[in-house]
Order: sequence, then structure tokens, then C-alpha cells
Amino acid sequence: MTAAPTTDGVLVDRYGRVARDLRVSLTDKCNLRCTYCMPAEGLPWLAGPQLLTDDEIVRLIRVAVQRLGITEVRFTGGEPLIRPGLVDIVTAVAALQPRPRISLTTNGIGLARLAPVLHAAGLDRVNVSLDTLERARFTELTRRDRLADVLAGLSEAAAAGLTPVKLNSVLMRGVNDDEAPALLRFALAHGYELRFIEQMPLDAQHRWDRTTMVTADEILASLAGEFTLTPDQAERGAAPAETWLVDGGPARVGVIASVTRPFCGDCDRTRLTADGQVRACLFATEESDLRGALRAGADDAELARRWQAAMWGKRAGHGIDDPSFLQPARPMSAIGG
Ligand code: SAM
Ligand code: SF4
Repeated sequence: MTAAPTTDGVLVDRYGRVARDLRVSLTDKCNLRCTYCMPAEGLPWLAGPQLLTDDEIVRLIRVAVQRLGITEVRFTGGEPLIRPGLVDIVTAVAALQPRPRISLTTNGIGLARLAPVLHAAGLDRVNVSLDTLERARFTELTRRDRLADVLAGLSEAAAAGLTPVKLNSVLMRGVNDDEAPALLRFALAHGYELRFIEQMPLDAQHRWDRTTMVTADEILASLAGEFTLTPDQAERGAAPAETWLVDGGPARVGVIASVTRPFCGDCDRTRLTADGQVRACLFATEESDLRGALRAGADDAELARRWQAAMWGKRAGHGIDDPSFLQPARPMSAIGG
């Protein structure tokens, strides 16, 4: 691999893509057990000393924002709302100059209580994951009877001004693949923006199967039975979701078709795991250890240089359709979805 050029101020890769959007995983732990994500018994969680401290996280985000051109910071996990220092981390990131946009991807449990506090701390928006509106299905799918908490979290997020509230839904064949129209009806009624996410080979159990996953085409066909969808002409840019106007608009629905319509050529992401590893891609098999460098005394310039080197090596695409595709060793919950 050729060495990264000394391009100051940006995270650029060999293919000319520039990363502006940083996904930070705050924990690999979770209070749900979605069947497409982790097993019922959970996973061997990262040990305390392996995790970045709140100060270490804020320092690395500062380096990314002030030295590497990051303009969007999204917190995720695992479940980011269970990180004790979350509010302080958001407060510190919102105080950075230039101030990045700050969002959070959550399962919504605890959001009803935290939404006003997080908004006051500087959080701009939330994405809430909701795969079904039926209580029994929710309990089967997440292995916890918590649908009511998620719905309360959604309302409070909207009331607190964490808008636009986006909903993320993963459909699974024979489980909730008949629910696309109902989810869209619910989103329209409440003013939430719904995006369906194709299921990806990132589950801890390695059960994902290309031949049975619900595809973007199937989701759109199912919605078309009830709604008129017209392609949204707005510039998509690096956004992963392809969007459609619903019944003439202005409401929209999105599909993130990472598997059947990959958008790697426009990807502008860089990722930091809860244990301080930079990943150029969800599907990367390599990571670059910033925690070790940071704890060994690296200064900000050195951390930025290492981050640039990690991104320079980003592969052109995820290669899911390649016969040689290898699922990454870490599951989605440990990488940060
Ligand atoms: N716990 C939070 C949540 O569920 O929103 C944040 C982390 S979760 C890993 C982030 C997103 O990834 C969720 O919307 C979840 O549905 C999605 N996800 C998890 N495993 C997935 C998989 N194998 N394929 C596609 N999406 C997945
Ligand atoms: Fe937890 Fe999110 Fe994974 Fe569900 S998808 S188990 S809520 S990390």
C-alpha cells in the first residue's frame, strides 16, 4: 500500500473519497438482544480498561473536528444511552469550534427521560430503531418486552426538539416483512422520517443469508401496494438512504440498500470503536489502534497522522458479493452501527 499523502486537514482515501462523518461507538453493551444483531446471552463485552474514557473520546473527536475536517458526529453502540458519561460527552463535543452537527442512533429505551437533557447538552437529532409496532413481535425480535418505552422515547424526542426524528427499521423474512406499510403509516402520522435498512452480514451469530434477506426491491414493492412513491430528486450526496416522496410529498421514505445497491463510491464515513480503534468501513477487516498511541503519549498531530493513514487504506467497496467476502471479526454492536 502506498503511504498516505501529507494532506493536512482532511481524511482522504486513495480513491479520493473524503470522510466528513464520524461514527463513535460509546459502548458495545446493549439492553436489547435483537435477533439479527446479538445472541440471547449477549456477547463477551469489552473490559473497563479497554474502553476509552470520556476524556479520551472527547479528545479524539476534537482531533477529528479541528484537524481532520469532520463536520458530523454520530454516537452509536451497542446502546449509547447506557453510557454513563453520555451527557457530558455531548456537552463537550457541542462546545468544540467549529461545532459539528451531533446526532445519536438509539434503540429508544430511556430516551423519554434523557431527550430533554440531551437536547439541552447540544444533541441535534436522533435516529431511533423500531422494527415492529406489535408488542408480541417486538418482544420476540428484541427478546425484551420494551415496545412501550421506545414509543414513549420517540414522542419525547420529538417534543424536546431532537428533529427530524428518524426511524430505522430492519425487516426480516417471516418475522416483520409484512409490516412495511404499517411502519410508514405510523411514521407519517407522527412526522418521523422512516428509513428501511437492508439486513447486513454483521450479526454476531453469522446467521445472515443473502438468499433470504429482504431486499430494497421487495420493501418498495410492499409499500407500493398502499402508497405512491416517486424518486426524490433532491441531491443524495453521501447520504446512504435513497429516498422517495410519499403520495407526492413532502413526506419521504428512505431505503438503505447497503447489500443490493451499495453506495461505497460516495461513502464519507470514518468510525471509532468504544475501545479506540479507527475503522475505515463497517466491513473493514483491519483496524488502527488510536487508544494505544494516545495512552503512549502521542500528541494531537500524531493522532491525526495515524487517523489519516488508516483512512488512506480504505477499500473501494465492501465486497459482500465477492466469493472471497469475509464477515468482519467484530459484530455490528461492537463496531458501532
Ligand atoms: N442500539 C442502537 C440501535 O439499535 O439503534 C445503536 C446501535 S445498532 C447496531 C444501529 C443500527 O444498526 C440499528 O438501526 C440496527 O437496527 C442496525 N443493525 C444492527 N444489526 C444489523 C444488521 N445485521 N444489518 C442491518 N442493520 C443492523
Ligand atoms: Fe442492541 Fe441496537 Fe443491536 Fe438491537 S440493534 S441488540 S438495540 S445494539
